Amino acid sequence: MPRYSAPSYVRSILREKEYTIKKKLGQNFLVDQNYVEKIAAAAEIVPSDWVLEIGPGLGVLTAAMAERAHKVVALEIDRELVAILRETLAFPNVAVVETDALTADWRDILEEQGWSAGSVKLVANLPYYITTPLVMKALESDVPFAALVVMVQREVAERMVAPVGSKDYGVLTLAVQYYSQAEIVTRVPRSVFLPAPEVDSAVVRLVPKPPPVAASRPELFQVIRAAFQQRRKTIRNSLKALAKAWNLPPEALDEALNCAGVRGDVRGEDLTLQDFGRLTESLVQRCPDGVS
Ligand code: SAM
Repeated sequence: MPRYSAPSYVRSILREKEYTIKKKLGQNFLVDQNYVEKIAAAAEIVPSDWVLEIGPGLGVLTAAMAERAHKVVALEIDRELVAILRETLAFPNVAVVETDALTADWRDILEEQGWSAGSVKLVANLPYYITTPLVMKALESDVPFAALVVMVQREVAERMVAPVGSKDYGVLTLAVQYYSQAEIVTRVPRSVFLPAPEVDSAVVRLVPKPPPVAASRPELFQVIRAAFQQRRKTIRNSLKALAKAWNLPPEALDEALNCAGVRGDVRGEDLTLQDFGRLTESLVQRCPDGVS
């Protein structure tokens, strides 16, 4: 069996198949077995697991997952790579599906492959041009993922796990916190990819969990987005336009801030998810439990 992570293997396949790397599809192939092992370890794959992989490329993670999991369903947009993978991946428990992972119905695809209820984990070295929408799609998915282990740009990883009050803290941090428990597993230098990307990377592990706040999701994220639209504005000024768009009377915003126990002169970056949750509920229900 070939060593899929060996740079010499990747180079020989590219040469043999006369394949030209497509930069616009975010193709940076991982060529370091140590990082393959770290990703596999973080995913804690057991023999009954199903793995959904986005962007298998030349199969380096696909092979590592196939050795450990019950079945790997790999979604690849590039027809040429799909053909190469079907020829070179020597595993009976891998299905390579040619599709755009961003628009595909993941649950349908898994069910077509025989999945019904077992544990599914998403493992991917994500194409950088669509990292955030793919992570959000996974977090909001109707597939009950037990864990997501994804390689992303380091800067995106730092935003996912940023502490409140830091410059990286923002909408992405709060969205990730709303849906999951997130941690950076390891930082990854650009030198372990072929070709080397222009940025460093990190592997992030996200474990989905029920939302920790009760506020209704669409309104909560409207409030959060408004709070970070202009980071330097105070929360009171940031939310004025939204309160107006929601047809709230002029006094409602100050009442809601008061009710939620949030000072009007702080910035969005100073507020926790729980603060945003209380603030949203106070705006929507006009102080649900009476003024605190
Ligand atoms: N998993 C391989 C590895 O680690 O070497 C390749 C990772 S490479 C960063 C990203 C892969 O995602 C490429 O194979 C690319 O063709 C694929 N890809 C890009 N956009 C995609 C999309 N919308 N849906 C599915 N696959 C996509």
